[in-house]
Amino acid sequence: MTFAIAFCGAALRLFFAAVFYLAAPSESHALTAAERAKAEAAFPGWVERQVWPAAKKAGVARATFDAAFAGVRIDWSLPELGPGGGVPEGQAEFQSPAAYFNEKRLADLAALGRPLLRQWSKTLAGIEKRYGVPAEIVVAIWGRESAYGRVAPGKLAIAALATESYVGRRKETFFPELIAALKILQRGDVQPRQMLSSWAGALGETQFLPSKFLQFAVDFDGDGRADIWNSTPDVLASIAHYLVQHGWTRGQGWGFEVKAPSAVACSLEGPEQGKPLSAWQKMGVAPLGSLPRYARADTKFHLLMPAGRLGPAFLVTSNFYDIKDYNNSDLYALFIGQLADRYIGGGAFAGGWSKVATGFKRSDVLAIQKRLVAMGHDVGKVDGLVGYKTRIAIGLWQRKQGMAETCYPDAAVFAGLR
Ligand code: CA
Repeated sequence: MTFAIAFCGAALRLFFAAVFYLAAPSESHALTAAERAKAEAAFPGWVERQVWPAAKKAGVARATFDAAFAGVRIDWSLPELGPGGGVPEGQAEFQSPAAYFNEKRLADLAALGRPLLRQWSKTLAGIEKRYGVPAEIVVAIWGRESAYGRVAPGKLAIAALATESYVGRRKETFFPELIAALKILQRGDVQPRQMLSSWAGALGETQFLPSKFLQFAVDFDGDGRADIWNSTPDVLASIAHYLVQHGWTRGQGWGFEVKAPSAVACSLEGPEQGKPLSAWQKMGVAPLGSLPRYARADTKFHLLMPAGRLGPAFLVTSNFYDIKDYNNSDLYALFIGQLADRYIGGGAFAGGWSKVATGFKRSDVLAIQKRLVAMGHDVGKVDGLVGYKTRIAIGLWQRKQGMAETCYPDAAVFAGLR
């Protein structure tokens, strides 16, 4: 486990354990002791010959570089090290999105967040004035990323990023992040020993990668440093700044739950098929609660059905997709929206999640994606994950087969697209 966990309820601890288990499936045992010793012996030379020239070119001073690497060694506890390290992603179980919206997790996070909204109300009002992002959205992301700073990332960022850049499976992804982390130290936002991250280099309470930190972290408490490790105003403002830089529209929320009659095809979902609210209403799509104040007849909304016909339906604004820029998952963005609503009186989704087909793995989803692509469908990234393009493609394929459109893999879909 990569996070030092303190002051958390047992449920919350389990929640984060589950979430981070998905990100870090296992420690690597792919390298032998002899291979490790060899890698360790060559590490200082690699730092000098590979990292230093790139850091110098990026404007990092020698003194900053030396301080950053003082005492830094390869961290063999990290996942994804060595050839073939970690559990193959394809072996992950195909699961219902329902697990993502565990009632206890949401209720616990909402209960922890409400007093923080009050405590930081003045700061949050200032942030909303400057960036236009509502307080509850900002606080929900803070809660989701680090349990409001209660779950602090426990790795030294330089050690984690250097390890992954040197002996990791995705060196080309991590090396630029290592250089970006050195630039942060050069800027003086944080001291090397305080620059803590997840195993994958996600920094502080916002969980920004170093390259994102350089673009989006801001100083909101006025001490001249963007400190996402210790300053709550900086954490909150950095989240809002990230969203507004990704297109957040002032004055709009994320969306709301709807009833989508069966006559409305689930393949109409997604960011490319937006329509004015009035058009959706004409088709029979209706809010399950009261309509949000910002929703006017001409406001553009998108249908979202994260489990197709096997789960609840939503109309979402473009802001929903800006939350996805924080973490590219419909479920993540929906979790943020749901948590944000709960601070201000919202409850659980009205629509339930049906059971999904059991006994399938991510590699099975990958296989049906490949078949759909071969038939000319756009499934988005062929990655074994059921994103909106894959759902739409499944729906269109089902329609062609004369099957009921569910837009989600079920036993018949797995069988038919084998
Ligand atoms: Ca600051």
